[in-house]
Amino acid sequence: MNTATPKEILLIKNGELALKGLNRGTFEAALTRNLRYRLRRIGDFTLRCAQSTIYIEPNDPDTDLLAAAEAVEKVFGISAFSRARVTEKDMDAIAKAAIEYLKDELTAASTFKVESKRADKTFPFTSPEISREIGARLLDAYPHLTVDVHQPDTVAYVEIRDFGAYIHAPQRPGAGGMPVGTGGNAAILISGGIDSPVAAYMMAKRGVQLYGIHFASPPYTSERAEQKVIDLMNRVSDYAGHMKLAVVPFTHIQEEIQRHCAEEYFTLIMRRMMMRIACRVASKAGCKALITGESVGQVASQTIPALACTDAVADMPVFRPVIGMDKEEIVRIARKIDTFDISIQPFEDCCTVFTPRHPCTRPKIADVEAEEAALEVETLIEEAIAGIRELSI
Ligand code: ATP
Ligand code: MG
Repeated sequence: MNTATPKEILLIKNGELALKGLNRGTFEAALTRNLRYRLRRIGDFTLRCAQSTIYIEPNDPDTDLLAAAEAVEKVFGISAFSRARVTEKDMDAIAKAAIEYLKDELTAASTFKVESKRADKTFPFTSPEISREIGARLLDAYPHLTVDVHQPDTVAYVEIRDFGAYIHAPQRPGAGGMPVGTGGNAAILISGGIDSPVAAYMMAKRGVQLYGIHFASPPYTSERAEQKVIDLMNRVSDYAGHMKLAVVPFTHIQEEIQRHCAEEYFTLIMRRMMMRIACRVASKAGCKALITGESVGQVASQTIPALACTDAVADMPVFRPVIGMDKEEIVRIARKIDTFDISIQPFEDCCTVFTPRHPCTRPKIADVEAEEAALEVETLIEEAIAGIRELSI
């Protein structure tokens, strides 16, 4: 190791320790792949995995490690992470590095402790001996400090590992969840609203690789409305990684519904058409489930009987991760993932354009089917699918 240039790296602690069904190797391979993808624009890094820790080392010392940390913060499957100084496995070098590297934290604190971990058992001092020695040296360098082993203001961590000694401050919490790609594939029905991006984020957090499906109704909906969906997907992809987005032309279907069906059923029939198309598109894209941003009682099409009507035409499971959440709770997540400000931009959505004045909130499936009989369902579906544009997010 070149000790002339002090090296800083990112130390990542894997999440979900009690891995059931999924073995650690699969988990770590997916996590490493996702980290590489997320860091690709920031610089050239070497990633190493050992002892439930991933080491991210910049190959160029001028790499923006703060930007790397910000990207890593949004990668699912990480329980905690920190920036760390790498030094030789030598007590003097460790003490010198700790004094320099933890200057800000130690200056701001009144009390501290040192916590040491010796994974490399060939290092000639035990963990308590390392903590005692480094603690004494830090006290010399920062005389305002006192040691408090129970409730210290800050902790200086020293880890003696195979590749070197690492010094770092307390770790920051990671995004949690499972690495995207370990939870199968599902299609998110994404509108321009607040709820569906949050639903997407929540399923990506469980390791699900997403595929976006958006129904557009030009000229009733504008190009700006479509751009809004692309912008939302881009924000979601900070967490969910690379995705495809299928834009389905929906105008003709909506016009046909309006022409042939009773107004109180417009929304329901429209949602059933969305489901039918989404199932086919999802299946072709290798997805085994659909995801929507529906929440019980939020609007007329989200009562339990209405949801049963839409589910009746789906031939794969439909996940609704925000089903039991209040709008406020959903908004809190939307703000956290930075989709809220985009979602509230005022562009028409295909649903708002054709909203009936008095929607049926307690539909019976038989009545809905009778209304639908006036439509050439299969032809309309095929026509919409033929007009799909697939974009890369
Ligand atoms: P959101 O805030 O996600 O738009 P919403 O509360 O406005 O939801 P609806 O408009 O009834 O509710 O839509 C319910 C769900 O149906 C959405 O969360 C989304 O998953 C799906 N959906 C609605 N409109 C579209 C669309 N144009 N394209 C794709 N999916 C849609
Ligand atoms: Mg909506």
